[in-house]
Amino acid sequence: RPALLEVRGLSKYFHVGQGFKPKQLRALQDISFTLGEREVIALVGESGSGKSTIARLIARLMPVSGGKIFFQGRDILDAEPREASRDYRSHVQMIFQDPFGSLNPVHTLGYHLERPLLLHGKARTDAELRDRVHALLSTVDLNPAAEVAAKYPHQLSGGQRQRVAIARALAPEPSIILADEPISMLDVSIRVGVLNLMERLKEERGISYLYITHDLASARYFADRTMVLYAGQLVESAPSEELMQRPAHPYTQLLLSAVPDPTGSITSELKARPGAPVLIDPPPGCPFAARCPNVLPACRERMPGRTQLDATRWVRCHLFGEGAPAVPEKAEA
Ligand code: ATP
Ligand code: MG
Repeated sequence: RPALLEVRGLSKYFHVGQGFKPKQLRALQDISFTLGEREVIALVGESGSGKSTIARLIARLMPVSGGKIFFQGRDILDAEPREASRDYRSHVQMIFQDPFGSLNPVHTLGYHLERPLLLHGKARTDAELRDRVHALLSTVDLNPAAEVAAKYPHQLSGGQRQRVAIARALAPEPSIILADEPISMLDVSIRVGVLNLMERLKEERGISYLYITHDLASARYFADRTMVLYAGQLVESAPSEELMQRPAHPYTQLLLSAVPDPTGSITSELKARPGAPVLIDPPPGCPFAARCPNVLPACRERMPGRTQLDATRWVRCHLFGEGAPAVPEKAEA
């Protein structure tokens, strides 16, 4: 697959605290991956690991601290003419966890879809605009479209609102959708329907997704590949099925063994282990060392580089690095 999007060595620091010496919070470090055409990559990790920050940086909603982002081979962070920047923004759209929060209660759903169509020059007459709005609503299975367009956000269910958010993201005809926990606030019974819609849009419109989730089962269902983020660093990447069946990194193993709590959070078992990641003045070494059941002396000294396990899988863990002690591929957690 040709790389549609390439993220190379991305980092993000936030300045936090007050007074004369605000501290640096290291939210992301050395994030590199590529997203291919019609590819779905899931990004999983605990709360605070930096998932949303990755999406916001790619969507250019905030400046990066370091690293590069290439879209179709073009460096999009370079100082560039406004046109090119607008072109990129139309190609990369975001949908959020809370569809209600992103819809304005005083406007009809039709209005919400007209805005991006006009902004991105997708309609020239009122009739064209109306047809486009109706077509978008039909695309996301909100019918009869004319009726839905006249409604207000509170008249829709959560699942219907998320469909409107998806329709709005489709308006500029994007090639990438960054979906930040798009189904986690929805009723369990309608989640699969929304994922299936996203899957259909991938097939019909050639859309690629970065799918951010806490829910490993949905990552397995929807994503070709899953990347695991820990304390702002990617620690493992593999085809979803393989990652779930044979997790390599001790953190991934713990994630998979964790029993979800009633809120659907995957952190319950990990929370029981002391050593939650430190993002301000972090100690050297692997951020997972403090909680890792397989920790080695080297883990407290330096973060290992990537070890390619096979053509499609890599891991960042001293257990797999050069000169690592011989361990079975699945270390016992
Ligand atoms: P969640 O699963 O809870 O959504 P996340 O993986 O999306 O978490 P982020 O929201 O990306 O995590 O946050 C990563 C880290 O960066 C956190 O420690 C967070 O507190 C910090 N952070 C995020 N945005 C800001 C900001 N604007 N200012 C300061 N710190 C921030
Ligand atoms: Mg988030």
